[in-house]
Amino acid sequence: MSLIDAIRTIPDYPKPGILFRDITTLLGDARAFRRAVDELVQPFAGAKIEKVAGIEARGFILGGAVAHQLSAGFTPVRKKGKLPAATLRQTYALEYGEDEVEIHVDAVRPGESVLIIDDLIATGGTAEAAIKLLRQAGANVVGAAFVIDLPDLGGAARIEGHGVPVHALVQFPGH
Ligand code: AMP
Repeated sequence: MSLIDAIRTIPDYPKPGILFRDITTLLGDARAFRRAVDELVQPFAGAKIEKVAGIEARGFILGGAVAHQLSAGFTPVRKKGKLPAATLRQTYALEYGEDEVEIHVDAVRPGESVLIIDDLIATGGTAEAAIKLLRQAGANVVGAAFVIDLPDLGGAARIEGHGVPVHALVQFPGH
Protein backbone atom coordinates (compact mmCIF):
# COMPACT_ATOMS: atom_id res chain seq x y z
CA MET A 1 0.00 0.00 0.00
CA SER A 2 1.42 3.36 -0.96
CA LEU A 3 0.32 6.66 0.51
CA ILE A 4 -0.18 8.13 -2.94
CA ASP A 5 -2.75 5.43 -3.78
CA ALA A 6 -4.67 6.22 -0.58
CA ILE A 7 -5.24 9.84 -1.68
CA ARG A 8 -8.31 10.49 -3.82
CA THR A 9 -8.28 13.14 -6.54
CA ILE A 10 -11.48 15.05 -7.27
CA PRO A 11 -11.32 17.03 -10.53
CA ASP A 12 -12.89 20.48 -10.72
CA TYR A 13 -13.44 20.87 -6.95
CA PRO A 14 -14.04 23.43 -5.50
CA LYS A 15 -13.90 25.08 -8.93
CA PRO A 16 -13.11 24.17 -12.54
CA GLY A 17 -9.46 23.35 -13.24
CA ILE A 18 -8.53 22.43 -9.65
CA LEU A 19 -7.50 18.86 -8.86
CA PHE A 20 -8.56 18.52 -5.22
CA ARG A 21 -6.33 16.09 -3.33
CA ASP A 22 -8.72 14.48 -0.86
CA ILE A 23 -7.08 12.85 2.17
CA THR A 24 -10.32 11.57 3.73
CA THR A 25 -9.68 8.25 1.97
CA LEU A 26 -6.19 8.11 3.51
CA LEU A 27 -7.54 8.98 6.96
CA GLY A 28 -10.16 6.24 6.64
CA ASP A 29 -7.54 3.58 5.91
CA ALA A 30 -6.02 2.53 9.24
CA ARG A 31 -2.67 1.45 7.80
CA ALA A 32 -2.31 4.48 5.55
CA PHE A 33 -3.22 6.89 8.37
CA ARG A 34 -0.72 5.31 10.72
CA ARG A 35 1.98 5.28 8.08
CA ALA A 36 1.39 8.93 7.19
CA VAL A 37 1.67 9.98 10.84
CA ASP A 38 4.83 7.86 11.31
CA GLU A 39 6.42 9.40 8.21
CA LEU A 40 5.46 12.96 9.20
CA VAL A 41 7.09 12.45 12.59
CA GLN A 42 10.22 10.58 11.45
CA PRO A 43 12.64 13.50 10.67
CA PHE A 44 11.64 15.27 13.88
CA ALA A 45 11.75 12.34 16.30
CA GLY A 46 14.98 13.57 17.93
CA ALA A 47 14.28 17.29 17.54
CA LYS A 48 12.71 17.88 20.97
CA ILE A 49 9.55 19.38 19.49
CA GLU A 50 7.58 20.97 22.31
CA LYS A 51 4.48 21.95 20.36
CA VAL A 52 2.80 20.96 17.11
CA ALA A 53 0.89 23.75 15.32
CA GLY A 54 -1.86 22.27 13.14
CA ILE A 55 -3.50 24.36 10.43
CA GLU A 56 -7.32 24.29 10.27
CA ALA A 57 -8.90 21.94 9.52
CA ARG A 58 -7.10 18.89 8.13
CA GLY A 59 -3.93 19.91 9.95
CA PHE A 60 -5.83 19.36 13.21
CA ILE A 61 -6.44 15.67 12.48
CA LEU A 62 -2.87 14.94 11.45
CA GLY A 63 -1.30 17.36 13.93
CA GLY A 64 -3.08 15.86 16.93
CA ALA A 65 -1.74 12.41 16.08
CA VAL A 66 1.76 13.81 15.42
CA ALA A 67 1.73 15.70 18.74
CA HIS A 68 0.77 12.53 20.59
CA GLN A 69 3.58 10.59 18.95
CA LEU A 70 6.15 13.32 19.73
CA SER A 71 4.83 13.77 23.29
CA ALA A 72 4.33 17.42 22.35
CA GLY A 73 1.52 19.88 23.00
CA PHE A 74 -0.85 20.96 20.23
CA THR A 75 -1.86 24.45 19.19
CA PRO A 76 -4.50 25.23 16.56
CA VAL A 77 -3.87 27.77 13.80
CA ARG A 78 -7.45 28.82 13.03
CA LYS A 79 -9.40 30.86 10.53
CA LYS A 80 -10.26 34.27 11.94
CA GLY A 81 -12.98 34.64 14.56
CA LYS A 82 -12.90 31.09 15.94
CA LEU A 83 -10.52 31.34 18.88
CA PRO A 84 -12.10 32.57 22.12
CA ALA A 85 -9.20 34.29 23.93
CA ALA A 86 -6.86 37.12 22.83
CA THR A 87 -5.25 36.37 19.46
CA LEU A 88 -2.50 37.34 17.04
CA ARG A 89 -3.79 37.64 13.47
CA GLN A 90 -2.06 37.39 10.08
CA THR A 91 -3.53 38.23 6.67
CA TYR A 92 -2.43 36.23 3.62
CA ALA A 93 -3.22 36.31 -0.08
CA LEU A 94 -5.47 33.77 -1.79
CA GLU A 95 -5.81 33.33 -5.55
CA TYR A 96 -8.78 35.70 -5.34
CA GLY A 97 -8.78 38.02 -2.32
CA GLU A 98 -7.30 37.32 1.08
CA ASP A 99 -7.87 35.40 4.28
CA GLU A 100 -6.74 35.59 7.88
CA VAL A 101 -5.45 33.05 10.39
CA GLU A 102 -5.04 33.40 14.15
CA ILE A 103 -3.36 31.83 17.15
CA HIS A 104 -3.91 32.60 20.79
CA VAL A 105 -1.32 35.11 22.06
CA ASP A 106 -0.26 32.59 24.71
CA ALA A 107 -0.29 29.57 22.34
CA VAL A 108 3.49 29.14 22.61
CA ARG A 109 6.10 30.16 25.14
CA PRO A 110 9.05 32.26 23.92
CA GLY A 111 11.78 29.97 22.58
CA GLU A 112 9.50 26.94 22.34
CA SER A 113 10.31 24.50 19.49
CA VAL A 114 7.33 24.18 17.17
CA LEU A 115 6.54 21.90 14.21
CA ILE A 116 3.86 23.05 11.72
CA ILE A 117 1.56 20.37 10.25
CA ASP A 118 -0.94 20.54 7.40
CA ASP A 119 -2.27 18.09 4.82
CA LEU A 120 -1.00 19.90 1.73
CA ILE A 121 1.29 22.73 0.69
CA ALA A 122 0.39 24.54 -2.53
CA THR A 123 1.58 28.18 -2.79
CA GLY A 124 2.75 28.13 0.82
CA GLY A 125 0.73 31.22 1.71
CA THR A 126 -1.09 29.55 4.60
CA ALA A 127 2.05 28.00 6.08
CA GLU A 128 3.92 31.28 5.69
CA ALA A 129 1.20 33.08 7.67
CA ALA A 130 1.47 30.39 10.37
CA ILE A 131 5.26 30.89 10.56
CA LYS A 132 4.82 34.65 10.97
CA LEU A 133 2.26 34.20 13.73
CA LEU A 134 4.31 31.63 15.62
CA ARG A 135 7.47 33.72 15.37
CA GLN A 136 5.56 36.77 16.57
CA ALA A 137 4.64 34.74 19.64
CA GLY A 138 8.35 33.91 20.11
CA ALA A 139 8.37 30.34 18.78
CA ASN A 140 11.38 28.60 17.26
CA VAL A 141 9.80 27.09 14.13
CA VAL A 142 11.82 23.90 13.63
CA GLY A 143 10.07 22.59 10.52
CA ALA A 144 6.88 22.21 8.53
CA ALA A 145 5.55 18.81 7.46
CA PHE A 146 2.84 17.97 4.94
CA VAL A 147 1.42 14.79 3.48
CA ILE A 148 1.27 16.37 0.00
CA ASP A 149 3.47 18.89 -1.81
CA LEU A 150 2.49 20.50 -5.11
CA PRO A 151 6.05 21.51 -6.10
CA ASP A 152 5.04 23.35 -9.27
CA LEU A 153 3.35 25.97 -7.07
CA GLY A 154 6.58 26.72 -5.23
CA GLY A 155 5.30 26.59 -1.67
CA ALA A 156 8.06 24.43 -0.22
CA ALA A 157 10.76 26.70 -1.67
CA ARG A 158 8.93 29.73 -0.29
CA ILE A 159 8.81 28.25 3.22
CA GLU A 160 12.45 27.16 3.08
CA GLY A 161 13.24 30.77 2.10
CA HIS A 162 12.05 31.66 5.60
CA GLY A 163 14.60 29.26 7.08
CA VAL A 164 12.04 26.54 7.85
CA PRO A 165 12.85 23.05 6.49
CA VAL A 166 9.93 21.41 4.66
CA HIS A 167 9.15 17.69 4.82
CA ALA A 168 6.52 16.23 2.46
CA LEU A 169 5.54 12.58 1.95
CA VAL A 170 4.22 12.65 -1.63
CA GLN A 171 4.29 15.06 -4.54
CA PHE A 172 1.81 15.68 -7.33
CA PRO A 173 2.74 17.62 -10.48
CA GLY A 174 0.59 20.55 -11.54
CA HIS A 175 -1.93 22.20 -9.26
P1 AMP B 1 -1.50 27.26 0.10
O1 AMP B 1 -1.70 28.32 1.15
O2 AMP B 1 -1.63 27.78 -1.30
O3 AMP B 1 -0.21 26.48 0.32
O4 AMP B 1 -2.71 26.25 0.25
C1 AMP B 1 -2.68 25.28 1.24
C2 AMP B 1 -4.04 25.05 1.86
O5 AMP B 1 -5.08 24.96 0.90
C3 AMP B 1 -4.02 23.75 2.63
O6 AMP B 1 -4.67 23.94 3.88
C4 AMP B 1 -4.75 22.76 1.72
O7 AMP B 1 -5.58 21.93 2.49
C5 AMP B 1 -5.56 23.63 0.76
N1 AMP B 1 -5.34 23.25 -0.67
C6 AMP B 1 -4.74 24.00 -1.62
N2 AMP B 1 -4.73 23.38 -2.81
C7 AMP B 1 -5.32 22.18 -2.62
C8 AMP B 1 -5.60 21.05 -3.48
N3 AMP B 1 -5.25 21.02 -4.78
N4 AMP B 1 -6.22 19.97 -2.94
C9 AMP B 1 -6.56 19.98 -1.62
N5 AMP B 1 -6.33 21.00 -0.77
C10 AMP B 1 -5.72 22.09 -1.25
